[in-house]
Amino acid sequence: MKISYALLITLLIACAPITVAEHNTLASLEHTTQITPCPNDATECLYFPFTTSDPTKRVLLVTATSGFYHTSIVTARDAIQHIADESQRFSIDRVDNIDNLDLINTTHLAHYDVIVFANTSGELPLNDAQKQALLDFVSNGKGFIGTHSATDTLYDWNDYGDLIGAYFDSHPWTQSGTIDIEDESHPLNAGLATSYSLHEEFYTFRANPRPNVHVLQSLNAASVGASGDYPLVWCKTYGAGRVYYNALGHFNTTWNDPRFQQQLHNALLWTSGLLDADCSP
Ligand SMILES: [Zn+2]
Repeated sequence: MKISYALLITLLIACAPITVAEHNTLASLEHTTQITPCPNDATECLYFPFTTSDPTKRVLLVTATSGFYHTSIVTARDAIQHIADESQRFSIDRVDNIDNLDLINTTHLAHYDVIVFANTSGELPLNDAQKQALLDFVSNGKGFIGTHSATDTLYDWNDYGDLIGAYFDSHPWTQSGTIDIEDESHPLNAGLATSYSLHEEFYTFRANPRPNVHVLQSLNAASVGASGDYPLVWCKTYGAGRVYYNALGHFNTTWNDPRFQQQLHNALLWTSGLLDADCSP
């Protein structure tokens, strides 16, 4: 991409007074309202401020399935790569199917900062050493992100349920619904409106994760003609590590939705240690 010298200088001046920490916040605010001192072309300013001296965090994107296969997985890979490209803070390596799951081992994971289970499913064939490597990876201070059917994964391994925060139970509502932001000032909700409407397959879980996680967003039950408490997005710590789960992501349209991509970018920043946030229950 060619950026003119004049534009470069303009952007540098516009963004120069901001500290790196604030840049991280800015980077998470593409779709929000006006927090930024950047000019109207906020998309440029948004991701631009990170210089080449800033660290690039390495992400291992796992979309292997042993159960239900979401056709949106292809879109998910593209969307996460797009987020990484725009952010210029993340490099993405992939495990696309169970044949490559052997890459989940202590030696290989040492190269990464975050593991993403995007729409994984079923009893992925991980041996005991691989399972321990994954738990150690997170508990020793790295990040884990799960989307949608990542909670429909590894039911037979209870430690995984403890890691991600819940197991999928059912999806009673595949329709448009309202999602309420529970904590508007939380950095992981940066860039989102107070509530938003989305056509999705909305999950319920075997046990409500709320007592053990920091709920960021939940389904507005009335919007689907129901009642009750249905957390959809949460974060938590795991040992010294950081865990983020987002139950959305069934449809291609969700993965292409800038509001969803915004959330995932926020999550990548936090789980990789580039952004601070309180995720205590
Ligand atoms: Zn689904």
